[in-house]
Amino acid sequence: MMEDDIKARLNQCGLKATPQRMRVYAAMCQLGHASADALYHFLGGDRCTMSLATIYNVLGSLTDAGLLVQRPSFSNKMFFDVNTTPHGHLYLQDTHEIRDFIDAPLRREVEARIRAQLPAGLVLDRVEIQVVCHAGHETTSEKEAQ
Ligand SMILES: [Zn+2]
Repeated sequence: MMEDDIKARLNQCGLKATPQRMRVYAAMCQLGHASADALYHFLGGDRCTMSLATIYNVLGSLTDAGLLVQRPSFSNKMFFDVNTTPHGHLYLQDTHEIRDFIDAPLRREVEARIRAQLPAGLVLDRVEIQVVCHAGHETTSEKEAQ
């Protein structure tokens, strides 16, 4: 995404395009998904001109403005996502990589089944589909075990 596009997106969402917001959102667009820690390291870690606390604050304001979504992850860390539409995720546990997993019919099916079985007094907010996997080839015995 070009600098002008990033500026326009921030402005559309009612945010002033400060250098910090521009830098964090541009990095998030490059990464797709990242925790605050991962983003801090991506931006240079100790050499980053923003502190981790500042990065948290900027991520928070981008999330409040609707430019990012915060999602729970397997590694007990929240991660931020530039794709704000409902979708699932593949988590590669060997590399900690997070990839989008898009299957709207599956998502609707899971939501409908959960909604039908939800105990009285509970309201479904959303379903997060997260699949744990690793790089490699599935063996026959692993397929049979499912
Ligand atoms: Zn995503």
